Order: sequence, then C-alpha cells, then structure tokens
Amino acid sequence: MSVTTSSTTWNDRFGASIMRSLTPPKVMLERGEGCRVWDVDGKEYLDFLAGIAVNSLGHAHPAVVAAITDQASKLIHVSNYFATPPQLELAERLKRITGAGEAGRVYFGNSGAEANEAAVKLARLNSSRATPGDRGRTRILTLQNSFHGRTMGSLALTGKPALQEDFLPMLPGVEHIPTTIEALHAAIDDTVAALVLEPIKGEAGVVDLPEGFMQAARDLTAQHGALLILDEIQTGVGRTGAWFAYQTHGITPDAITIAKGIAGGVPIGALVTFGWASDLFSAGQHGSTFGGNPLATRVANAVLEEIESTGLVEAASQKGARIRDGVASIESPLVDEIRGAGLLIGVGLTRPVAQAISAAALERGLIVNAPNESSLRIAPPLIVSDAEIDEFISILSDAMASVHSLEATA
Ligand SMILES: *Cc1c(COP(=O)(O)O)cnc(C)c1O
Repeated sequence: MSVTTSSTTWNDRFGASIMRSLTPPKVMLERGEGCRVWDVDGKEYLDFLAGIAVNSLGHAHPAVVAAITDQASKLIHVSNYFATPPQLELAERLKRITGAGEAGRVYFGNSGAEANEAAVKLARLNSSRATPGDRGRTRILTLQNSFHGRTMGSLALTGKPALQEDFLPMLPGVEHIPTTIEALHAAIDDTVAALVLEPIKGEAGVVDLPEGFMQAARDLTAQHGALLILDEIQTGVGRTGAWFAYQTHGITPDAITIAKGIAGGVPIGALVTFGWASDLFSAGQHGSTFGGNPLATRVANAVLEEIESTGLVEAASQKGARIRDGVASIESPLVDEIRGAGLLIGVGLTRPVAQAISAAALERGLIVNAPNESSLRIAPPLIVSDAEIDEFISILSDAMASVHSLEATA
C-alpha cells in the first residue's frame, strides 16, 4: 500500500466513487485477527460490532480461512442445475439446529434481504392457499420500528417510514402494527397471510419484545392460519445464547430467515420452513444464481461446526452477562437501561449522545455502534474473551466519561 492511499486521501476517493446511498465511513480497515482490526495507518481497534453481528468467529479465523481455501480449490459455483455436498450438508444441519426436523426445508439466497424476499413470497403463497369464497389472505403484518432489509420487498416489511418515503409506492398489503399484545389481537384474523417479526429489534437499538408477545403471536397466527415468520437475521446463529432466539421463547415458528452471522462474513442468506410451510413452494417458483453456492455453504458449515464444537452458544449467555454487569458497573448518568440477550446487547441512553460515545470510543480504539441517537449496540464476535470484555468496559467507561464531561461544560 503506497503512502498516497493512506487516511489523507481514502475518504476523498470514497466520496468520488462510491454511491451516495452510503454514509461516508470514518476509518478504512486493512486487516483483522480475532476480535481486533487494524486500519490503513496501523491503528488497532477492539471490534465490538463484528460487522454488525456477522463475524461470529472474529476475523481471519483459521476454520474460516481453511474452509474458503479448500473449497475455492474445488468448486466455488455451479448454478442451481446441480447439487453440491456443502449445500446439502448445510440444509440438513439447519434443519437440525432449528428443530425444523424432517418436515423442514431450506432455501438459500445471498443476504438477509434476499432471505426476507423469499419469506414475502412464502407469505403470498399462503395467500393463494385461501379457499374460494373467503376474502383471501392479502395482508402481511410486521412491527412498527422493525428492520427487515433494503430491497423493495424487505423494505416494505421494514417498519420505518423514513426509509420508505423516497421509494413509494411500497408492495401492497403490508401493515405495520404496534408491538403490543392488544395490537396482535386487533390485527390478526383470517385475512392475514403472515406475521413477520424480529425476536429482538436489532436496528431499532436492540429492543426486546414485551413479555408474552411471542407466545401470543404464535397462538393467534396458528388460530387463523397465518404464518409466523421470524426474522432471525441478527439474533440467530448462537448470538443470543440459543441457536435461535425463538428457542428461548418455547415456541415453534412456521419459518425463519437467517443471514449475518452464519458464514462468518461470506455472504449467504436462508429461509428455513417448518411443518406445513415447507409445502408452499413448488418447483420453479423461486431461485437465485448464487444462492446456496458451494463456497458460501461450505464456510457456513465450518462456522456452525466451530460454534457447536467449542460451545459458543452457551458461552454467549455467560459472556453477555459479563458485558451487562460491566456496563451496569460504569454507573454513568448516561446509561438508562441494558437490553437484549447473550451477545446482542443494547444500551439505552438517557440523552441523545450515542454517536458522540461511539466516536469517542473509536478514538480510543474501540468499535461500538450507535444504531440511533439514544442506543449503543454491542455485538462482539462470539469468540470474545473475558479479558477483551474487561478491556471493552474500561474503554467504554472512559468514552462515556469524556462525553459526559463535554456535555457538562457545554
Ligand atoms: C441486517 C438485517 C437484515 C438485512 O440483511 P442484509 O444482509 O443487510 O440484506 C434484515 N433483517 C434484520 C433483522 C437484520 O438485522
């Protein structure tokens, strides 16, 4: 790397060539190892975002490197005219760890948004299942302030009007309801094809569902023949202390969508169906050129195998507890509440200073995300160590103190 491409000029290059749809980044990264990354100037950062809950095994994990290298030397892509061993192994593995079992089926795409697009089509297939004479299942329900992606179908599901505004009209039939059990009762009847929801609203700032909400959602959708589709894209793959967050609610959904953490950073998405939902798609109704390719599925197998064999799912609960205790011990007047589960943690702030704290942390060599002005999101790699958690607490505490004192003198 030449001197002219260092931090003095990379942001100009970004500004000149990358689509304006993205907000300009603050740092240009060059490499990573474990829970740490280094920028182009050699500065080290402790990574407590993990590419937004994507780098489950951190950076440059030997199991991921080996899977990519070995698979690249065999087959990277073959098209859906052919099956490959990693594809079938991953589908069977997902059926096992989701509990979908024998009746389960898996569709592979390349991102979270694509997994949710497949879920939208699944919901539409449930619509056409309606018997002649009834009003048809034209409605898809999702939650206000939810996030399901940026493509047109997944954007329609997303409960943030500000993100939709410039791209109207949206897909018809989608309604965003308040996250209350009363709203579920009011909205769900025989005209609903599907209820789509995040077990924890990640992009909203890691916001938990109210007590009893998931059970009510399950009961009401089952009663009215609607699909319960859970968007586990951020909560899944061990992050919340279970393979999937719904497993801690004691319910079984009809379908879930998976992406982010499943292949440690290699793009992949999946829709897993349970029970009767597995019979909705028929041959030729959906597909994707890259979907389920042997490279991505091989890496996902390696990531899931490593998570399973090293007990990272159970460990996520203990490590999460250490982070929560640590954040609680900071005793900053800026901390209002601690949300989430396992290693997906939200810190609700008493004042709109999340960006300022995130910037102060970055300066001090810590990556922590501010999904909105009043929340911090903490989502380190699942391999994070106790020592790294303690280091994180110490830097975060320092960053919060600096923001608080700046506020006090302002
Ligand atoms: C990230 C995310 C998505 C979108 O995934 P992409 O891979 O960015 O398309 C959808 N739903 C949830 C809950 C997410 O966190």
